[in-house]
Order: sequence, then structure tokens, then C-alpha cells
Amino acid sequence: MAQRYKNPLIVAVTGGIGSGQSTVCSFLKEWRCKVINADNKAKEVIQHDRKLQNELKSAFDRSIFRKDRTLDTKRLAEFAFKDEISTQKLNQLVHPRMVESLVEEMEQARFSGKYPIIVIDAALIYEISIENMFDAVIVVDAPVRLRERRVMERDKMTRNEFRSRLDKQIPLDDKVSWADYVIKNDGTIDNLKQKTRTIFNLLMQDHKTLAKN
Ligand code: ADP
Repeated sequence: MAQRYKNPLIVAVTGGIGSGQSTVCSFLKEWRCKVINADNKAKEVIQHDRKLQNELKSAFDRSIFRKDRTLDTKRLAEFAFKDEISTQKLNQLVHPRMVESLVEEMEQARFSGKYPIIVIDAALIYEISIENMFDAVIVVDAPVRLRERRVMERDKMTRNEFRSRLDKQIPLDDKVSWADYVIKNDGTIDNLKQKTRTIFNLLMQDHKTLAKN
């Protein structure tokens, strides 16, 4: 019979743009952790919560939704990221619902008993002050030059676009200083996988210790 995990560890993986957070989460998923992505959750709540949709329309513009009611993310970004106040407005409306929905999915995963570790893949955990929800926070760190090169390649972004995204985030050095575990992504992908495996093994060890109590 498959093992059941009564008390999964709840772990956040965060970082800064391009530091390698999604790549680390893809490894953890491969090793059968449940991974819940916060950005996808935010999109999902906007797509399904009628009340929130109306609030967003009043805050921004009706045209952020298409005729078939699906969200036009590009249009929303045009309105919501045009200045700091608009971004704050978006965050104030979306984040509480996103967190609620994250918690709901976390609870379902916990209840299923299938996972030793539940991972929340979220760039903004420190920005929205939810770090205390987790048993541990992993920060993926990388030199800014490497991050810039990787993101320009991944998203076909210009250097200026990258820098402007970077300026909106809490400096990665601060996140590193608050982390429970830090993965330094300054080598090859294989190297990153090995470092992630070391932390995964430590967490699994932790899980066994906690489960005995
Ligand atoms: P984040 O989720 O933190 O923004 P990603 O995990 O998407 O970052 O990584 C950014 C880009 O860099 C992706 O295209 C990814 O494949 C690539 N990448 C990540 N780590 C490495 C590495 N160690 N070597 C080469 N490319 C990498």
C-alpha cells in the first residue's frame, strides 16, 4: 500500500525574477512534492470570482475582460502596472483571494495524505508578508548578471524591462538573509538539481522527525 503522509511539511520556494525558482520547483515536482504556483492561483481566482471581476472592472476598465468573460492579461497589465498606485490597487484586490485559494488547495493536498512536502511556488511571499504560513522558506539566489541574461533569453525582454521589473521587488539579498534555506544558482542546471536534492533530503529528514512527535 502507498505510504500516507499525515503531516506534510509546508514549504515556500521564492526568489527574484530569473533566479531559478520555477526550475527548482520543477525538480521538487519530479520528486513527488505537491507544487502550487501562486501566479497561476491569482489568474485562476480572477477567472472564477465574479465579485472580484466586478471590483477589477471598477478599479481599472471593463476591457480587461473579453466578451467571453476571460481575462485579457495583457490589457490588465497595461492598466495595473502603469504606476505604483494602480499596482497596489490590483494587489489589494487579488492577493487576499489568492492566499485564500492557496490555503484551500494546500488543505486538500494535506488531506489527501499523498505528499510528504507541499511546496508553494511564489515570488512575492515577503512582499505580501505571508512567510509565517510556512514551515520553511527556500530562497533561490543568483548573481544579477546571470538573472538578467537568463530572463532576457527566456522572455525576450530588454535590459530596461528586466531592470524595471527588478526595481519593483524586494532586493534578493534581503530575502536571502531571511531564508531558512538558500540555493545558490550560479552553476549548471545539473548543479542546481544537486543543490535542490540536498535540501529536499534535509526536508524529508525533518519530515520524519516531525512525524514521530
Ligand atoms: P524564475 O522562476 O526564478 O524567474 P526560472 O527558473 O524560470 O526563474 O529561470 C530563468 C531562466 O533561466 C529559465 O529559462 C531557466 O531555464 C534558466 N535557468 C535557470 N537556472 C539555470 C542554470 N543554472 N543554468 C542555465 N539556465 C538556467
